[in-house]
Amino acid sequence: MANILNLLQFILIFAGRSKYSITFAMSDFEHHPDDISSLGEFGLIDHLTRGIDILNKSTLVGIGDDAAVLDYGKSRIVVTSDLLAEGIHFNLVYTPLKHLGYKAAIVNFSDIYAMNGHPRQLLVSMAISGKFTISMMEAVYSGLRLACSQYGVDLVGGDTTSSLTGLIISCTAIGEANDKDLTYRKGAGIHDLICVSGDLGGAYMGLQLLERERTLFEKDKKLQPVLEGYDYVLERQLKPEACREVTALLRRSGIKPTAMIDISDGLSSELMHICKASARGCRIWADKIPIHSETRRVAEEFNIDPLIAALNGGEDYELLFTVPVGIFEQVKNLAGISVIGHMTDAAEGVKMVISGGTEVILQAQGWNPL
Ligand code: ADP
Ligand code: MG
Repeated sequence: MANILNLLQFILIFAGRSKYSITFAMSDFEHHPDDISSLGEFGLIDHLTRGIDILNKSTLVGIGDDAAVLDYGKSRIVVTSDLLAEGIHFNLVYTPLKHLGYKAAIVNFSDIYAMNGHPRQLLVSMAISGKFTISMMEAVYSGLRLACSQYGVDLVGGDTTSSLTGLIISCTAIGEANDKDLTYRKGAGIHDLICVSGDLGGAYMGLQLLERERTLFEKDKKLQPVLEGYDYVLERQLKPEACREVTALLRRSGIKPTAMIDISDGLSSELMHICKASARGCRIWADKIPIHSETRRVAEEFNIDPLIAALNGGEDYELLFTVPVGIFEQVKNLAGISVIGHMTDAAEGVKMVISGGTEVILQAQGWNPL
């Protein structure tokens, strides 16, 4: 049969036809009506991955959470991947290469902690353009190595290739978790409390500051940035940490979140993920959202509402999680944890109570009055 098919294929090709139907085109896609931006990041992922079947019993959870969960024996394996692209996620005018390497690893560890797992291995793939030198790449690696040693992770492989412009770093982290410890985006109960670790909006204000100084520098190359007094927000942007201590604290306290996600895209967006995956609504209180005093100060300097920075800023890599309402007394006394609201029925939507008790509907970017 195979031979007959081969022969048939040969005859087709010989006859000047191919089994492939390819239309050559210049890289001129601007006339296409199906612009990716019409879907947005999450819409695009949904669109491209709809109907992908799970074929292997070992794949417990595929696309849709902070990480995939695999079953290869006693403990569960948790896998996640994140990519940082020059000019999109970082600007080398102000991002020290060591910090870039550190952050590339941390953003992956963060997704593993969000599943209540422990990162164990890291793979690093890079596309490097001609402007990068050996010592520059050594600096990136010193950051990757530091993150791995701080979090007890082994760097076990990756891939390297060249790129036409800019640097792209894609990391894949592999973690481990007990089946009973795993936390998903789904699972939030109807009256569960909504909690966040640390404080929010700092990384965004750090970025605003760096961008302001970059703009000044680009106008006048003699100008060096003025960064004194901004240590907290700069550190939040340039050297984020993953929430290892938070999940350890919860475990020591005997608390298993009913749902959990890391805050990489801003509180609003992550709340929506938890609500959607858990088929719930939620109500949070604006004045309960933890914001650092320096974040507030810098936001005021930039004429930005600190609440907007916390809701939409992203890159804080804190954890957003839900717990049963019955443990309010216990959870409200945990250091570094804020209770900001509670889950509701799906029909209630995703709401926030602002000053004067007014309720607004949260959107991925900002909010709308009711
Ligand atoms: P996070 O912000 O936690 O890193 P993302 O929003 O990047 O999560 O991704 C959400 C889900 O979609 C994850 O399960 C991720 O693995 C999956 N995903 C993202 N991009 C792709 C892709 N290109 N193909 C398949 N799955 C993807
Ligand atoms: Mg995540």
